[in-house]
Amino acid sequence: NTDIALYRAKGLGKNNIQFYTPSMTTEFHQQFLMVNDLMKAIQEEQFILHYQPKVDPKTRKIKGAEALIRWNHPERGILPPDHFIPLAEETNLIIDLGDWVIGEVCKQIKQWLDGGNTIVPISINISAKRFLKDDLVSKLQMILAETNIDPKWLEFEITETSLIQNEIKVLATINALKESGIAISLDDFGTGYSSINYLKKFKVDFLKIDRSFINAIHSSFDDEAIIKSILYLAQELKIKVVAEGVETEEQLDFLLKHKCSLIQGYLFSKPVDVAAFSQLLSKSNDWRRINT
Ligand code: C2E
Ligand code: MG
Ligand code: MG
Ligand code: MG
Repeated sequence: NTDIALYRAKGLGKNNIQFYTPSMTTEFHQQFLMVNDLMKAIQEEQFILHYQPKVDPKTRKIKGAEALIRWNHPERGILPPDHFIPLAEETNLIIDLGDWVIGEVCKQIKQWLDGGNTIVPISINISAKRFLKDDLVSKLQMILAETNIDPKWLEFEITETSLIQNEIKVLATINALKESGIAISLDDFGTGYSSINYLKKFKVDFLKIDRSFINAIHSSFDDEAIIKSILYLAQELKIKVVAEGVETEEQLDFLLKHKCSLIQGYLFSKPVDVAAFSQLLSKSNDWRRINT
């Protein structure tokens, strides 16, 4: 299949086009089969979304959730995103996959609303490649129109990699998304080419402090200092902060003390399937009814 070979060759980042031949290395052959598999998986929609709550550290109520993709592979079982997102990016299949995620989240939100459930905004991870392709906003508008969802229920999580590209284009995309009513989070904050300048240039709604910093709470003064500074800076700039990967009560206490808006992590819940998440959400609502 020439298409696949072309996809793959493009992914190699070279200008020469390679075609599949039986003499290719095993590794290449493996990759080739995997791309084939992935294309088929997209056609057959072999993916599922898990949802991980974002919780208010003061009240422990669910205020949002992040949709995280898994590949329900017919032979290999449930595969985490690290196993296929890099290849999807390399081959541009991430565009179709990303659009599937947006559509699926919108359908899910509609289902919750139609069922009379109380819901929270759901965030979607948008890869840099998808973010930078011109048709993101128009595709989004199309999906929103099809599913008839109020965009206030959606958030996009982008990484710093998306911001270091063509500045004018990035600014236009962010502004167009914000005009569409989509909130924007800067994911994995502090790990990439973080520049404080970005926070001034691009008006994001949330910063997500990367798990590596949260991990180091109570073991590294430097990391604690960085977290405190991020929280202080964000507060001054009126950006809300989400802490990723919160696993212990000690970490929660620290974040609460320094006024972190939301926490996400195994302490509260791992990413769970839609049924389990709906249950968490309804429990969180019961809790609110009892306590306020
Ligand atoms: P991310 O967006 O930074 O997501 C956070 C990851 O940390 C998730 O891994 C989540 O399960 C994990 N995590 C959350 N809390 C904890 C914790 O307390 N402890 C530990 N050890 N881990 C925690 P996951 O689901 O494997 O996703 C990994 C990455 O794959 C994501 O990082 C994101 O970059 C990417 N990804 C996931 N879903 C999508 C998607 O739909 N589209 C795109 N483009 N990328 C996605
Ligand atoms: Mg994320
Ligand atoms: Mg993250
Ligand atoms: Mg991450």
